[in-house]
Amino acid sequence: MQTHKKGWSLKRPNTCQFELTFRCGLHCKHCYTDCYNRPAYFAKELTTKQIKLILDKIYDSGVIWICFTGGDPFIRKDFLKIYKYAKKKGFLVSIFTSGYSITEEIIRDLKKSPPFVIELTLNSVTKDLYERISQVRGSFRKAMQAIEMIVDAKIPLKIKTQVTNDNLKELNAIKSFAKDKKINFVPDYYLYPRLDGDSAPCALRITPKEIIKLGVKLPLDCLTRFRKKNNHLFRCAVDSGDGFNVDPYGNIFPCLAIREPKFSLFKYSIASAMGKTAFFLRNSLFKDNSKCKICKDKQSCYWCPGKAYLEKGQMGVPIEYYCELTKELTGLVGERINDREEGQLLLASVM
Ligand code: SF4
Ligand code: SF4
Repeated sequence: MQTHKKGWSLKRPNTCQFELTFRCGLHCKHCYTDCYNRPAYFAKELTTKQIKLILDKIYDSGVIWICFTGGDPFIRKDFLKIYKYAKKKGFLVSIFTSGYSITEEIIRDLKKSPPFVIELTLNSVTKDLYERISQVRGSFRKAMQAIEMIVDAKIPLKIKTQVTNDNLKELNAIKSFAKDKKINFVPDYYLYPRLDGDSAPCALRITPKEIIKLGVKLPLDCLTRFRKKNNHLFRCAVDSGDGFNVDPYGNIFPCLAIREPKFSLFKYSIASAMGKTAFFLRNSLFKDNSKCKICKDKQSCYWCPGKAYLEKGQMGVPIEYYCELTKELTGLVGERINDREEGQLLLASVM
């Protein structure tokens, strides 16, 4: 926390999430980046030299924590070169992976200079279901081998599960698997359309009632929700300046769900690209007639403009799934519109 505060006081970012590639050995049914896991996109991805150049810029901007994600970063033949370069510069490195492309050679090198953590997605502990979700034969054995190698090498590991209507019944078994191996476990209950707008993953959502049964509570109000004016679309901390995202083509963009406007790091400095995305985020306002703007339950809702943009193509509109979930969470019936605001809305509509 102290380091974060120091970065804030110097107006320097602390974190960067760097998508090294959209390639992955798996094609999970729910994956939001799988639409770009196609040969046509691979050639556009950054070269080793370009990645090193961007890592230099990221380091100079003040970032301490870097997360290599994808796709699966381990699928890159040059992953170890990139990793060693980042470690030598002094970054604390986290890696998000499916585990499919982890090799003995990679583990040998990571053991010598371990990452802060590897976060590995494991969506089933039974072969048939795992491979039905990953859509790749032989992938279960590889995931299990990867977990074993990481544990044996004593590299910090976290297991994540994307809960869908395919694996909901197996959630407890995955939890027990992680517990038996003394591995931290984190489930994720929310699904989004793919980055190209394909909404197929949404059909795999578990129902709001099922989410409640899993013990999900009302979202925690973060300070930014109070700090921001009522008509600001972005209530999360994405515009705080604490961090930024880089895509596999070398662009900084507003948030994981919103990829435009984007700013190439071959053209802009990190400070200027961050300034431009912050300008976009801070100046994105609700339209007067937005239901979410006047919704009395918005503090209790997991809706956000990024999710709305991916699912509806517009940032300020409600998503029925989240309305339903909020209704379940608050025990209220339907959306409750504050009388005063409703009055103003009616007035505005006749003016
Ligand atoms: S996806 Fe939603 S919560 Fe996440 S950064 Fe974007 S707007 Fe904020
Ligand atoms: S409950 Fe529905 S209308 Fe209200 S903020 Fe959430 S998505 Fe918007």
